[in-house]
Amino acid sequence: MKLETLAIHGGNQISDKEKPVIQPITLSTTFTHQEESMVYSRANNPNRNSLERLLAKMESGEDAAAFSSGNAAGVSVFQALEPGSHLIAPDDMYHGLRAAILQLFDGVLEADFVDMTDPKNVSEALRPNTKLIWVETPSNPLLKISDIRAIADISLKAGTTLVCDNTFATPVFQNPISLGADLVMHSSTKFFGGHSDIMGGALITKRKDDFWEKIKNVQKVGGAVPSPMDCYFLCRSIKTLAYRMKGHAEHAGQLATYLMAHPAISDVYYPGLVSHPGHSVASSQMTGFGGILSFLVKDGADAADHLISKLKYFTNATSLGGVETLIERRAASENPETKTPQNLIRVSVGLEHLDDLLADMDQALASI
Ligand SMILES: *Cc1c(COP(=O)(O)O)cnc(C)c1O
Repeated sequence: MKLETLAIHGGNQISDKEKPVIQPITLSTTFTHQEESMVYSRANNPNRNSLERLLAKMESGEDAAAFSSGNAAGVSVFQALEPGSHLIAPDDMYHGLRAAILQLFDGVLEADFVDMTDPKNVSEALRPNTKLIWVETPSNPLLKISDIRAIADISLKAGTTLVCDNTFATPVFQNPISLGADLVMHSSTKFFGGHSDIMGGALITKRKDDFWEKIKNVQKVGGAVPSPMDCYFLCRSIKTLAYRMKGHAEHAGQLATYLMAHPAISDVYYPGLVSHPGHSVASSQMTGFGGILSFLVKDGADAADHLISKLKYFTNATSLGGVETLIERRAASENPETKTPQNLIRVSVGLEHLDDLLADMDQALASI
């Protein structure tokens, strides 16, 4: 089955004798005791089951676990590590997960944050107690590209678990498991949900090993599970994921090209641009470059804020992956010590008509 077909049929498990075309939402928190029945919704629920099976298939994995947010998914991986383990993560890791490592696992886990655009930095950071390598590519918000195959080689030789945060690419454009990753992580709040109305997260595993059993136990005992409603709506949204991603990528590519040529902009970060330092690696591991880009406004942070205030169709809000275009001066949303340039603007390019988006950006840029 191709991804588009899988997305429509893979999460739709019908067991009712009335044969509805769409799987109903099972809100019940508990199930009548009988052989093979489910027991309690924190452990298992028909809608979550469908979502997890769908996600496992879409990422070419053996199993999946759905969570109530992307951060809950990431934190579950860290919770499954033995205390005293060392992990290596990107120096521009999603700021919320970096905060989780530093604030929640201080004194429990050791972590090094390195520039993963050069795999050598990963090898050099290995320690005898390194258990996990975390990759995020393309990264948020600098769209840096890491070579998943090269880092998977390092991880395999070192006997560590390689996790890839695949939120920006989605399985439509990148399959980390087929490139050598052991686990894939998603914020389903973003492109999977696609309409800025669901919080969710997911982990997908290449194989059901001991580490995976620990993660499944964190999911069940920790209890950061999504509601049946959210699982239902995620399955619904995923049906159009492939078509939305193609639209997002087409629009982002065109907006990036437009911004490159504008005198008020000094740099544009989009892996689809041949000038992007990660372009060739991105081309070797992605089938499309995604819907997120960022750029630097020459005249600084105030000019960037002014530009954003003049836009009509670009909503000034954090988050990404919805059908509506969102824009923000990213450093203002991150922690005060962030290394993100103060004049960097991140755009999640939506599915409005491209002509409207370009005309809007054009008039706003003319005003700065
Ligand atoms: C948003 C995001 C997360 C965190 O997900 P939440 O659903 O907000 O908890 C993790 N990684 C990336 C790349 C993200 O964009």
